[in-house]
Amino acid sequence: MRLVLLGPPGAGKGTQAKRLADRLGVPAISTGDIFRANISQGTPLGVLAQSYTRAGKLVPDEVTNDMVKARLAEPDVESGFLLDGYPRNAAQVTTLDGMLADLGTGLDAVVELTVDHEEVVARLLKRAQIEGRDDDTEEVIRHRQDVYRNETAPLVEIYRERGLLVAVDGMGEVDVVTSRLADALSALEA
Ligand code: ADP
Repeated sequence: MRLVLLGPPGAGKGTQAKRLADRLGVPAISTGDIFRANISQGTPLGVLAQSYTRAGKLVPDEVTNDMVKARLAEPDVESGFLLDGYPRNAAQVTTLDGMLADLGTGLDAVVELTVDHEEVVARLLKRAQIEGRDDDTEEVIRHRQDVYRNETAPLVEIYRERGLLVAVDGMGEVDVVTSRLADALSALEA
């Protein structure tokens, strides 16, 4: 299965992406995780990415697109993948379309985790305290929500029009959300 997981920052995408990917036996590819790994290792990509992520901005498309393209060329992706955090704007959708066309494949579904906005901000503030993520100050959290609303939320309609969208309620206990996702995917596989 080739899937994209969409949802605002704090929707629990990362947690659910790993669980779903395990269940499907495909790699979860998180652009946020790849950036964070590069930032903590101090690579040139990390230094560049951090100047954007710490301000709650998107990393420039050419940088992100090249990184995803390289990842999708790795052999473990042949059985499928679950993309978490990419695409994040309409231009990235077009680039991803091109990458998949070049690989002779396409997406099976785009799963949208739907959440309550206030709940999401509360979750992020809590996570910021626990993990001390330096991209998680309150101001940055609010900016990232705005970026999501303006740049990423419109992708829901793009994929709905293509008949690929599957909306899943992301509110509630982590295990409950995981079973909702599992049910939604079983329905797809059937
Ligand atoms: P979140 O915690 O908001 O779900 P991620 O962990 O997915 O965020 O990503 C962290 C940061 O990495 C984002 O705020 C953004 O700056 C950058 N980033 C991640 N994916 C992309 C992308 N597809 N395009 C541009 N920037 C990205």
